[in-house]
Amino acid sequence: MVVAYPNAMAFEQPLPKSLSPSRLADFQVCPRRYQHASVERIPQPASYASAKGRFVHYIFEQLMKLDAPERTIDAAQRFVEPARRQILTPQVREEIGLDDANEARLLAETQVILERYFILEDPRTVTSEGIEMRIATSVDDTPLFGILDRLDRDPDGDLVIVDYKTGALPNRDYDSQTFANAELYAVLCEQKFGERPARIRLLYVAHGEAIERRVSEPVIRARASAATTAWTKIKRYYADGEFPATPSKNACRFCSFTDLCRAQGVPVPPR
Ligand code: SF4
Repeated sequence: MVVAYPNAMAFEQPLPKSLSPSRLADFQVCPRRYQHASVERIPQPASYASAKGRFVHYIFEQLMKLDAPERTIDAAQRFVEPARRQILTPQVREEIGLDDANEARLLAETQVILERYFILEDPRTVTSEGIEMRIATSVDDTPLFGILDRLDRDPDGDLVIVDYKTGALPNRDYDSQTFANAELYAVLCEQKFGERPARIRLLYVAHGEAIERRVSEPVIRARASAATTAWTKIKRYYADGEFPATPSKNACRFCSFTDLCRAQGVPVPPR
């Protein structure tokens, strides 16, 4: 189902300067979500899951910035307290209703994640070309931007895109969406550095499992083409003054804009 505004208006906000893998995913799920999040920049309150993701990413980022021999589990645990100060700000605490019980749960889950991560890989043996790498480039006039968790150089000399995942494991028949963001990062890397990463490694740190996929030419071309097609549509919808809504149970279940959409007459399915 596609729902348009009855009376589209020109946007007051400028068109975003670039497209990131996560914003592309927003757009592909529902263009109206992209409108609210990226064009109108309506703040989206943190959730427990998003706060935990940022908390854990912060610890891994600090850990990997240490010299390789210093990347021990004790060192990682020393970053928990700084993470509390940096990530669990008063605003985040309020948005996710972080009481003592929830905070204790978050700290306990973080401890499990760290223990499982150190079974998954030994960070003292990792060689990274970049940590939290900010990459801006363009493909066929489509401006792309992304922040990559890690870009490693493996023992064979190949580049590997590494992405930490704090959520649930995908089912075993990984759908193409599982690797979609990371494959677009591969496009960014190839365009920016002139070298295509050989592999993508997704670290499901809460489960102590990694899943990998080789990066292939056809997939890279398909991801670049999908981004270019989306950017063309984004510019058109922006000029039209409306981004269509495509409500569905799956799309709307994890969306922050359900109340707004319902108020605008979009038939958002009940959760
Ligand atoms: S609530 Fe549903 S229709 Fe509205 S923006 Fe979110 S995904 Fe789209």
